Amino acid sequence: MNIYEHPTFQMACQQFETVANYLEIPLNDRDRLKLPKRSMIVSLPIHRDNGSIEVFTGYRVQHHLTLGPTKGGLRYHPDVALGEVAALAMWMSWKCALTGLPYGGAKGGIACDPRTMSIRELERLTRRYTQEMIPFIGPQIDVMAPDVGTNEQTMAWMMDTYSVHVGSTVSSIVTGKPVSVGGSLGRKESTGRGVAYLVNRAMDIVHLNASEATAVVQGFGNVGSVAAWSLVRQGVKIIALSDVNGGIYNRKGIDIWKLEEHIQKHKTLVGYSEADAITNEELLLTPCDILVPAAMERQITEKNAGQIKCRILAEAANGPTTPEADRILEQRPEVFVIPDILCNAGGVIVSYFEWVQDIQSFFWSETEVTDKLFRILEGAFTQVLHMSQKQKISMRMAALALGVKRVQEAKKVRGLFP
Ligand code: GLU
Repeated sequence: MNIYEHPTFQMACQQFETVANYLEIPLNDRDRLKLPKRSMIVSLPIHRDNGSIEVFTGYRVQHHLTLGPTKGGLRYHPDVALGEVAALAMWMSWKCALTGLPYGGAKGGIACDPRTMSIRELERLTRRYTQEMIPFIGPQIDVMAPDVGTNEQTMAWMMDTYSVHVGSTVSSIVTGKPVSVGGSLGRKESTGRGVAYLVNRAMDIVHLNASEATAVVQGFGNVGSVAAWSLVRQGVKIIALSDVNGGIYNRKGIDIWKLEEHIQKHKTLVGYSEADAITNEELLLTPCDILVPAAMERQITEKNAGQIKCRILAEAANGPTTPEADRILEQRPEVFVIPDILCNAGGVIVSYFEWVQDIQSFFWSETEVTDKLFRILEGAFTQVLHMSQKQKISMRMAALALGVKRVQEAKKVRGLFP
């Protein structure tokens, strides 16, 4: 299917084929499981603040509709492309199935650079995108959430645009909204908290003491920063961090309280005086106990997988490790991998809680949210670990196999219409 041609889509397909071979899924069932159910591409003309009109391209891919509405984030980034969005949608499917959420996967995106756009331009773009998507979304059809380059405000605009169209407030149309308009307590922190929870579980497995452990975090957005804070609270020392502009390193540990002050002032962690500047490549090769890629896809490749020096690789980003890198990591049992669809599932799990709370108009305390989040993560982690140990397969293979199998079974029992 070459309309999806993209290295990230190729990567998701390669993973799928490996898992399908392992599960011995009949050839007849494979394309049905793998290919997106539907994909939308929309042109989004907006007024720029300087008076000109610019047309952006927006995407939404809904991977499968077998288990309920589709669910997944909306990304604003210059590199957004149909194939990338399709891969991310496929991963959302396996992630939701692995954690037992009643959703298919989806992902959307707009090829734009939000950092160069004003807040008004972003609002116009978001509202236009929502308007164009109205025939294809709904609380029981497709529910969006934040991803790279989008946030609570983006979701509030989407919810408002959709609600104006319907004629009444429909908070369950998106998740990751501000709490003031039906968002869930603990949603913003959920992905990073989940990452730290699972790192803690992995530390038990590899016999690592949090108070003696060091961590390196690539990406200091919503996920990377909350993961870093949560690890610090467990007693872990953060020795290197990065954002889109560059990285910083201090062997003795980075005081993230002070770093946050620097970021408040300079809008980047680059230039922080109590650490040395390092490149992204150096950051990933920094010797540490816990390496947390929390940025973009395809960061751990065949080029660096042999050299990363960590005991736990906690994939907070989606698709940070290529299949070629996976083959290298499989020969390195000293590196314990928490695969992305498990590691970052905290976000969509609490999105599910938010959707349930909105539908019921009955809201939970943050403690309730976090307790339930950890319970689901614990169950998924235990299942994946158990399967990986029993079947002698990698943690990624076990996680994907559990996710794919659930979707396969659902498709089988529902049958093929007509
Ligand atoms: N964008 C997040 C992810 O990749 C969250 C998706 C959601 O909450 O629906 O998992």
